[in-house]
Amino acid sequence: MPRDNPVVEDGEEPRLPPFGVRKLSVPADWVGGVSRFRLYPTLAQQILLLEQCGHARYVWNLALEQWSMWTRGKGSTANFAEQCRQLTEARAEYGWLRTGSQTVQQQALRDFEQAVKNFYAGTHRRPTWRRAGLHEGFRIVGLQAGRVEQVSRKWARVLVPKVGWVRFRLSRAVPDAKSYRITRDRAGRWHLAFAAIPPPIPAPGTGEVVGVDRGVTVSGALSTGELLTCPGLSETEQVRLKQLQRRLARCRRGSNRRRRVKAAIATLYARARDRRKDWVEKTSTDLARRFDVIRVEDLRIAPMTRRPKPKPDPERPGAYLPNRRRAKAELNRGVLANGWGLLVQRLEHKAAGRVEKVNPAYTSQTCSVCEHCAPENRESQAVFGCVACGHRANADVNAAVNIAAGRAVSARRETPVRVPLKREPQHATSA
Ligand SMILES: [Zn+2]
Repeated sequence: MPRDNPVVEDGEEPRLPPFGVRKLSVPADWVGGVSRFRLYPTLAQQILLLEQCGHARYVWNLALEQWSMWTRGKGSTANFAEQCRQLTEARAEYGWLRTGSQTVQQQALRDFEQAVKNFYAGTHRRPTWRRAGLHEGFRIVGLQAGRVEQVSRKWARVLVPKVGWVRFRLSRAVPDAKSYRITRDRAGRWHLAFAAIPPPIPAPGTGEVVGVDRGVTVSGALSTGELLTCPGLSETEQVRLKQLQRRLARCRRGSNRRRRVKAAIATLYARARDRRKDWVEKTSTDLARRFDVIRVEDLRIAPMTRRPKPKPDPERPGAYLPNRRRAKAELNRGVLANGWGLLVQRLEHKAAGRVEKVNPAYTSQTCSVCEHCAPENRESQAVFGCVACGHRANADVNAAVNIAAGRAVSARRETPVRVPLKREPQHATSA
């Protein structure tokens, strides 16, 4: 272990190095919540970090197992305090667990508790098993999360319990966060992410409402007529991804070649994810700055990810008519790729109390001008053409206007319905 990376026990005051001035601040206009830095641990540190990840994962999975067994039969689950007591017992029993940081392991329990709360609140899915190689990460909270210092203009370092000082690239200002998370992605890159919920952006005060529709032909559409495009992989990158996936299928299991191909695929996916996250931050900031109320479709209501029913062919028994399952599968993939859920989450942070969720039923079939609702209104995926009044528009924009006018079904704060659009659409969903 290098000399400038002393292993520090939990709670022990770190030996501060001679250099490094604490000059880490948040710029006044800092709005991005994803304050992620590339972490550069030494090889020895990587081993220690991976061990911590393993401990956190073990504790999480244990809590998950307990929770899923409890919900099946009994009424109440073990609470956090009880689980902490069990963790202490487990640490006394298992030496390998004891060598790890108690803070990291307790935090895994706390994170799990939060995941369960989120699940019951309906905002998140059921907590899942953490798997080695896929979910490598742990969280540091509290005073220990504040041990960060700048080393040079481009570099800073963070004191990780039981690991020591780990360098990271100072690609932006470090926020004054109460916690951070260290993760290793599938491509083997380490990251340090400070969990700072971005400060809410003040509403412009114009009373303007915007509807945002998750698009079919593009990533999204605003009721103002603007189209949103979430960047993914470029044409050439997609071709390369296909090639790599084909190559992977031919690789022998456990071979070095397979490992290399897998890493190359993971790098491409990571690139797409970075672009998507960047887009989400920019778009959510822009929307929060420009509009007082932002209406989005309620994703829990939308049966988007459900499979379309098979349509039997009346003329040929046993055969089926096309039911647009392919198209729907494409759309589902697009939804995932577009990071829609993430956008809504960031909007709720930045435009706190100003985001309203609208029941999206029939928004794509209803005319935003005359309110006529019919499946025939959809001329194609891209074009909306009202069969009653002849109104023609981009299908996604038409749906976004409906959403802007829609009744909020689960608003955090009830806002009086004011729709200062040029034409005054009727409330399509208030019947
Ligand atoms: Zn119409």
